Amino acid sequence: MASLEIHLFPCLSDNYGVLIHDPENNVTASIDAPEAGAVKNALAEKGWTLTHILVTHYHADHTGGNMELKEDTGCIIVGPKNEADRVPGIDVQLGEGDSFGFGSFTAKVFDTPGHTAGHISYWFPKANVAFTGDTLFTLGCGRLFEGDAKTMWNSLSKIRALPPETVIYSGHEYTQSNADFALTVEPGNAALQARAEEVRDMRARGEPTVPTTLARELETNPFLRPDSPEIQANLGMEGRDLHEVFGEVRNRKDNA
Ligand code: ZN
Ligand code: FE
Repeated sequence: MASLEIHLFPCLSDNYGVLIHDPENNVTASIDAPEAGAVKNALAEKGWTLTHILVTHYHADHTGGNMELKEDTGCIIVGPKNEADRVPGIDVQLGEGDSFGFGSFTAKVFDTPGHTAGHISYWFPKANVAFTGDTLFTLGCGRLFEGDAKTMWNSLSKIRALPPETVIYSGHEYTQSNADFALTVEPGNAALQARAEEVRDMRARGEPTVPTTLARELETNPFLRPDSPEIQANLGMEGRDLHEVFGEVRNRKDNA
């Protein structure tokens, strides 16, 4: 089976840029474009030519490089239909249930609103990888700028339903702060305790904690675990609706 090559690199202060490359068809996409310079350096390093930008949401730290990269390379910019008017240079608009062909791979698109109202995520089933932008982070989730807890919980539930072995790339390195917070709501979770230590070591060595896998997130990410009896008990929310428990976890992180 042809493999999808993936290259992760730091951008701006705490963003990640990601390039994906299908060598058989010689196509290369940047997942979001935080800044043109860092994306160009990464392309040069790999010897790849940009053909696409796959945008998750309109925020400037995800689209700031769009126009310069498009002018330089003529790449096609693909992004969320529901906020297309805010995505610079968008050519192809996608939403829930759409598919997008990239070389011999196909991205399935989910609407994952909450962080922004039009945010989308891309899942490449054949490559076993998903790009979740600022919806799901390693041990965290995006802030609710343009949606309520119910909306975001519905979005996260779509990601939760992917195969557990799915490899998940997100837009930021926030994992240390996420791990510290996670331990405050679920201190008795042994998998989380072990992971928090691992995260500390990785960050001390300057290593990225992206990507992660859905299986690990299901075990340790409190934003995917509102059904955890320990979390519910710690919040005094036993038996409440999952989106309410999720909302309280999000609330506490915002005020941590
Ligand atoms: Zn954002
Ligand atoms: Fe962001």
